[in-house]
Amino acid sequence: MSAAAGGKSVARPLRLSPTSVSVFTQCRYQYKLRYIDKLRDQYARAKPYLTMANHVHATLRDFLSRVPPDRRTLETVEALLRDHWRRSRVGFRGEVDEQRWANKAMAQVKTFTERWDVTVQPLMVEKGLEAQLGSGIVLYAKADRVDREADGNLHIVDYKTGNKPPKTDWTQLFLQALVLSRRQSAPVDRASFLYLGPSAMETTSISPDVLDGALWELLRTARKVRQESKYRATPGTWCGYCDFTPICTARGGEATPSSAPEGQLELWDYGLEEADDP
Ligand code: SF4
Repeated sequence: MSAAAGGKSVARPLRLSPTSVSVFTQCRYQYKLRYIDKLRDQYARAKPYLTMANHVHATLRDFLSRVPPDRRTLETVEALLRDHWRRSRVGFRGEVDEQRWANKAMAQVKTFTERWDVTVQPLMVEKGLEAQLGSGIVLYAKADRVDREADGNLHIVDYKTGNKPPKTDWTQLFLQALVLSRRQSAPVDRASFLYLGPSAMETTSISPDVLDGALWELLRTARKVRQESKYRATPGTWCGYCDFTPICTARGGEATPSSAPEGQLELWDYGLEEADDP
């Protein structure tokens, strides 16, 4: 897309995010429907696992950013979750189903409070950042939490409410680290997935080589996005989590699964928009 400026055509920046990169990689037709045709609001369905995940994330965000460390107790975290839950109860098949998801959410926030250091004072929680990378490419990313470690370096922590996958895909965190490294002077040297169900943390080092590799991959994807014109549908396991099955020519009427694979879980926005602009 372009706009006229002083008689010259100026290309609009290509805005990408870890989610849009993932969608483009999996199915370009889904990418078109969501980011170009912008049909997501029309077709998005409430999902129980998404409601649960959003309430858990919002609870932990408030717990570590709004509650003083000496009041971060089990009672406080339970009250926060109940409060968030009351605000939205969408996507459930009925009361029994909702209770099951609520119990799961409560177990996760309680275990988090008991097992992890809740006196931590994060540098950021759920803060969206963007950075210009390369010519006309803007990457937007939002980290669940960024801690400043004792040595002054930064550590990205991403909460996962679903099952731990057999193999970890670090792309999402590498892209978050890429944006953060452009916006903060302190080095980003670690990134972790914290799986709240099993209460397990998996950590990887972030080195300059890792950031260079992530940038190179992003630029490669951006080039493909710019060159794409056919937007072929590529059905796969991800179809079960796609909002566009009712209108997809390749796959229609998929049943809604009861959980999403981590990495495809998209959270509600609590004030900061994900880059939906291709
Ligand atoms: S249903 Fe599957 S093939 Fe169709 S747009 Fe969605 S992800 Fe692509």
